[in-house]
Amino acid sequence: MKYFRSHLTAKLFATYLLVVFIGITAIWVTTRFTTPAAFTRHLQFMESQLMGDNMMGQGQGRGPQGGMMADFYRNFQASFNESLIIAFIAASVVGLVVSYALSRNIIAPVQNMKNASQRIAEGHYDERVQLRGADELSQLAASFNQMAEQLEQVEEMRRRLIGDVAHELRTPLTAIKGSAEGLMDGVFPANEETYRQIHSEAERLNRLVSDLQELSRVEAKAIQLDIQPVDATRLLKTAFKRMQFQFDEKRVALNRQLPHDPILVLADEDRALQVLTNLLGNALQYTPESGTVTVSIERGKNVARFTIRDTGVGIPPEHLAHIFDRFYRVDKSRSRAHGGSGIGLTIAKHLVEAQNGKIWAESAGENKGSVFVFTLPLV
Ligand code: ADP
Repeated sequence: MKYFRSHLTAKLFATYLLVVFIGITAIWVTTRFTTPAAFTRHLQFMESQLMGDNMMGQGQGRGPQGGMMADFYRNFQASFNESLIIAFIAASVVGLVVSYALSRNIIAPVQNMKNASQRIAEGHYDERVQLRGADELSQLAASFNQMAEQLEQVEEMRRRLIGDVAHELRTPLTAIKGSAEGLMDGVFPANEETYRQIHSEAERLNRLVSDLQELSRVEAKAIQLDIQPVDATRLLKTAFKRMQFQFDEKRVALNRQLPHDPILVLADEDRALQVLTNLLGNALQYTPESGTVTVSIERGKNVARFTIRDTGVGIPPEHLAHIFDRFYRVDKSRSRAHGGSGIGLTIAKHLVEAQNGKIWAESAGENKGSVFVFTLPLV
């Protein structure tokens, strides 16, 4: 019984057998009740045909119960039962074989899925099941394959993330270690510059770790957003106030083109400001001295469009599609030298999308400046 409970093949097999058994029983019971009456009727008809109407008087009342007719009926019953038993055995054997084959056939895809899921649980994420037909089991197999593919992607992302993080951490750590060893061996002078260098590398590590924390929060959608009507112009003015000093210091002009009417957007003020300052920071970083960064806000159909345009190094077309990927940098050495982690735009994208907006970049090519655009829904 336990075996039957825990094996779908056995259950199906038993179900088929039960159907075969019930079928045979129904045939047996029906014939048992209908045969005597049918036999008598047909025999009387035959008798009347054989003996003619004048002999009917003698034949009447004898029926299958008495005399020759009774013998005849008993023999008929015995031969009928005999063939019924043979039919029963034949039906049982055929039913047994067919039931077994059918059960196995139906259970095969389930068995395949069970094996595949075990392989996946053991870490073989490339395991898939074969699709046959279009029934519910095949649909289940297709869903299973889809799930396996997603698991494989997540696993691949996890593996890449660990590799990337290790790589990113190694650079500042190696620099700190090198400086410390230089100090210990007396190769580097114990002066302010050496200490400042160590401090700046430690600072870079710190920034990277904070960015990673922020990234994991936004990717897991674990940030609480306080979405409210926000004045887009005021948002921009606050961002300008924060960044103006750095622009002045690098001598990059910061211009703005604001609409006459106020534009109210639905956003989390702090997070929208974070996106704006991040894009302004990038524009400043990738624009050489005496360049210009211009920010404009326009009213679209249902959204407000924020455009940050710079006259900087630009982005080659083949990189445009990737710059929002985590750790992606167009010029790795230059970005890293500025302390860039390659995570800023990834966080910005998540934050904009969490506020129901879109973000994208455009550039005419290298040294032709870049344009970053993001939208936020209008109130
Ligand atoms: P990073 O910390 O390296 O700046 P981001 O995620 O902010 O990381 O940006 C990813 C990459 O996109 C940068 O390394 C840079 O190559 C490119 N990028 C971003 N903003 C600009 C820009 N305004 N002009 C040119 N390239 C840019």
